[in-house]
Amino acid sequence: MFDNLSDKLDKALHILKGHGQITEVNVAETLKEVRRALIDADVNYKIAKEFTARVKEKALGQNVLKSLKPGQLMVKLVKDELTELMGGEVVGINVSGNPSVVLMSGLQGSGKTTFSGKLANFLKNKKTKKPLLVACDVYRPAAIDQLHIVGDQIGVEVFSDKGNTDPVAIATAGVAHAKANGCNVVIIDTAGRLAVDEVMMNEIANIHKAITPQETLFVVDSMTGQDAVNTAKAFNDILNFDGVILTKLDGDTRGGAAISIKSVVNKPIKFIGTGEKMEEIDVFYPSRMADRILGMGDVVSLVERAQEQFDEEEARKLQKKIAKNQFGFDDFLKQIQQVKKMGNMKDLIRMIPGAGKMMKDVDIDDDAFKHIEAIIHSMTLAERSKPQIINSSRKKRIGKGSGTSVQQVNQLLKQFDQMSKMMKMMQGGGGKRMMQMMGK
Ligand code: GDP
Repeated sequence: MFDNLSDKLDKALHILKGHGQITEVNVAETLKEVRRALIDADVNYKIAKEFTARVKEKALGQNVLKSLKPGQLMVKLVKDELTELMGGEVVGINVSGNPSVVLMSGLQGSGKTTFSGKLANFLKNKKTKKPLLVACDVYRPAAIDQLHIVGDQIGVEVFSDKGNTDPVAIATAGVAHAKANGCNVVIIDTAGRLAVDEVMMNEIANIHKAITPQETLFVVDSMTGQDAVNTAKAFNDILNFDGVILTKLDGDTRGGAAISIKSVVNKPIKFIGTGEKMEEIDVFYPSRMADRILGMGDVVSLVERAQEQFDEEEARKLQKKIAKNQFGFDDFLKQIQQVKKMGNMKDLIRMIPGAGKMMKDVDIDDDAFKHIEAIIHSMTLAERSKPQIINSSRKKRIGKGSGTSVQQVNQLLKQFDQMSKMMKMMQGGGGKRMMQMMGK
């Protein structure tokens, strides 16, 4: 996320390193580079200029933070200003009604359907919400099917009416269906076009009028940079929407949309999409995003993601199994799947302060687990729970079945064996024994 921008800002902020104090000259030099970095990231020229003017004013008028070195001070000022530009405070979604209606708007391909599913899943996981998804794209039958697939995947009901060509009628019927069936959030996915046009705008305005949503969200592909900002303006003029959803922040987005959209439409970014999977949604925290942009990592989000995937009941069961020496490959597989749900490895590593920069050029294979999973899937149930029965003919069969070699199977068995021993030792309060084993 924002690799280029992070790199350039890092270089710009390095200019002040080693300087004893802030001066007009070194501030001007640094901020020129900061401005260039922002413009390269597709931030609007005027916004970038105002940004650096504000930072300059604060830097030169700075008496309070004498304890900070110029380099540190500038990082702090740029971070604060970035946070402010992206909205300052976090603004959540309002789904307090019964039902609350959430209307999705945006261009075709921006990620509306995917995000509708992610939001439904996010709310469903909050336990107090029972969402209903409503498919209002009457032009593309495939879009309706797509929403049904998403709904099945996350276990959320989808309301659709395939022959009906009136999106306003479908949306209204969807809300009525939610009321009749005890759903307290209705998420309405609408049709988008490839570019802003009058017909689409009229249609979404009519749906908006008919169902008076609590939340109208504008979904935008962050890869489109300045275009994202312009499209936001057009939609906001018609809908006066409540918040922005930035999707595809996992790609090599330059960052312009995330940084400038708030100040152009004066509406908060509420969520971001960071992948195609249903779990790849994050609440947008301006200050955490500023940290990420400045390469400072985002440990808080990392811990939150881990907590979301953590199931206490499962953890207790697992603990018992380990104690009884029953931890098998099936359990291992479950663990892998939980880690994978947290997001792609590159993203996760970037959330660790400093690691993003360090690992920048390391190619992290997101399929690292693929071989392991394939090997486990090729084992019989008996083999998974009692790996010691896996003899050489079984190894050959497993290797063949998983498209790996006997060597790879052996390697996994060995690693698994070591891991099981280690877990058992940690369980039994054997920290001391483990230290001994490690030669301490
Ligand atoms: P819609 O036409 O606005 O409903 O857009 P879709 O939800 O169909 O999304 C268009 C494409 O973008 C699909 O291939 C999605 O899988 C993909 N997509 C959506 N959100 C994200 C995201 O956050 N990251 C990535 N990498 N892809 C996304």
